[in-house]
Amino acid sequence: MQELNVSLSADSPDRPRLPNSPRLVLGIETSCDETAAALVDEHGVVRSSVVSSQVPIHVRYGGVVPELASRNHLVAIRPVIEEALATAGVELDQVAAIAVTAGPGLAGCLLVGMQVAKAIAFARGLPLVLVDHIQAHVWAPYLSDGDLADAAGGAKSLTYPYVALAVSGGHTSILRVDGPGRATTLGATLDDAAGEAFDKIAKLMGLPYPGGIYIDQLSETGNAEAYELPRPLMNKGLDFSFSGLKTAARLVWEKASTVPGADVERVRADLAASVQAAIVEVLVDKSLRACREFGIAQLVAAGGVACNRGLRKRLVEKAARQKIRVRIAPARYCSDNAAMIAGLGGALLAEGASLSGAALLGADIYVTSRKRAS
Ligand code: ADP
Ligand code: MG
Repeated sequence: MQELNVSLSADSPDRPRLPNSPRLVLGIETSCDETAAALVDEHGVVRSSVVSSQVPIHVRYGGVVPELASRNHLVAIRPVIEEALATAGVELDQVAAIAVTAGPGLAGCLLVGMQVAKAIAFARGLPLVLVDHIQAHVWAPYLSDGDLADAAGGAKSLTYPYVALAVSGGHTSILRVDGPGRATTLGATLDDAAGEAFDKIAKLMGLPYPGGIYIDQLSETGNAEAYELPRPLMNKGLDFSFSGLKTAARLVWEKASTVPGADVERVRADLAASVQAAIVEVLVDKSLRACREFGIAQLVAAGGVACNRGLRKRLVEKAARQKIRVRIAPARYCSDNAAMIAGLGGALLAEGASLSGAALLGADIYVTSRKRAS
């Protein structure tokens, strides 16, 4: 019987690869309801990025059901990894390291990715890099598809430190980023995340889950000044609060949509536009305030809500007026994906942050965000 060789060094130069070909990292992401795998090289060039969304499974419940999510990660993870390898045209032999989301996220979901990553890394004698989901989101603008537009500058011109707005269904925070994996929280939501507010308000207006994108679309035709909604904590620090906005939107909807003869479609579009304007205004205002307070002229927006067209537009416009450069990854690298995990994993690997051999078996997940800056 062949013995498992687990004594290969964390950063083995002996892996078979073509001379001068960049080292490849296999990234695995299962923190919530997307099963994702990607191959990214050490320069942040994405060779493949496969995302299997579970939205069709959770849509009938109006939100992610954790138990269903983890069970479906189990089903999807192997084919997703195989597809990522096949799309990149490589075998596991050509992979230099495995990067996996260790947290934050849903425990049962994180465990699936972690166990698979550990198993592959241990069996293959590969280094394992533990990646924080939020740190990966704010690193995502460094990813490139290796095309001419990227080579001409773009994200590559992003230098540390920068301020990042991380906005998704589970998180809303403003961070200061001083290096790969070195983002510290300056402000965060005290209650709902921005994406959660989008989704909950969309749900009460009868829109499908996840509703952020529908609110984005309806905002195109809606009147953003139709309803006056609060801008919570607008001029107070860098923390956010969205639950009051949700209540205000519900009261507007219940009243306006039930008035005899109400044009419900119009109410829906106008309320969507008004809600989006309120959320976007708060997100943009606080992000730019953080830039000014810390004297940093670069801002990154990341996470699923950074796909929002109203947010992207207003952020770019307002930042330009204050001479702040904005970097936002393409939508496919803003919403949950494994390219950002592999990419940040590669950057951390270059700094020697990996586990190997028996030590990697002790790696564990964490479910909530880690400490904020004091
Ligand atoms: P997670 O929240 O699990 O980290 P993502 O980073 O993929 O996942 O973010 C998903 C969130 O992004 C959802 O709340 C979704 O409604 C929101 N979202 C996606 N696209 C848009 C959009 N165009 N406008 C507003 N919200 C959006
Ligand atoms: Mg996310």
